[in-house]
Amino acid sequence: MFQAPFSFGILKRAIDQGLVSINLHNIRDYTHDKHRTVDDYPYSGGPGMVLKPEPIFEAVESVTSGISAVEKGGKLPIILLTPQGRLFSQEIARDLSGYDHLILICGRYEGVDERVRQHLVTDEISIGDYVLTGGEFPAMVVVDSVVRLLPGVLGSDASSLDESHSDGLLEYPQYTRPEVYKGWEVPEILLSGNHAKIAGWRREQVIRRTLERRPDLLEKTTLNQQERQLVEQLGSALKQTNTIKESSL
Ligand code: SAM
Repeated sequence: MFQAPFSFGILKRAIDQGLVSINLHNIRDYTHDKHRTVDDYPYSGGPGMVLKPEPIFEAVESVTSGISAVEKGGKLPIILLTPQGRLFSQEIARDLSGYDHLILICGRYEGVDERVRQHLVTDEISIGDYVLTGGEFPAMVVVDSVVRLLPGVLGSDASSLDESHSDGLLEYPQYTRPEVYKGWEVPEILLSGNHAKIAGWRREQVIRRTLERRPDLLEKTTLNQQERQLVEQLGSALKQTNTIKESSL
């Protein structure tokens, strides 16, 4: 499952350049029976199977034995991907990008034995309020978002600074050539070459977009006085438009 996403684009380049190293471990390799059993029935019944604790503990112990004692002293995140974890965000990705090592544990079936959560993992992450069949896609989401924040991974380090969620807001709209497509024009200001005006327009767009699509994000962001005024102006204009729309329904 991991082969394709890790073998092209920015992730592949980062791996090839030695900026990150991703090691996959199959918990079946940490079983001791003929059938390489990793799951069993849940105690006291219920649907599906549960991942046994022993192979997961052994896999993690084997991986951590190669990591320095200093880091193991509480600073090595051992993350369980689970729909019950804290909701993943750009802020968490940024935080995780500061560690030398991360261990991600992917569940399957009905999930993992509770003792893994209680006595092995240091963090639990969910990528959204929905349930997937396994932790592999969530792990890929975490890896992708963390790796692109590592120094040197993106072509220009500035490209991760302007992006949506990097400062808590959504990014401004982007245009490329042609200047006119099917009669739809690129905003004139972007062709003006006036960098100060373009920066002002972009900041206004950032605020407008966030207000229209994710007003909850604005509440958590620190804005300067001019920006707060803009939010008030745009907010009342937006309310008026919505009232007109509602009354014409
Ligand atoms: N029975 C579990 C529950 O209700 O919480 C769900 C198990 S789910 C079918 C199987 C595995 O997929 C989980 O152990 C977890 O690793 C992964 N998974 C599913 N949804 C996820 C999500 N939203 N975020 C992170 N991991 C998820």
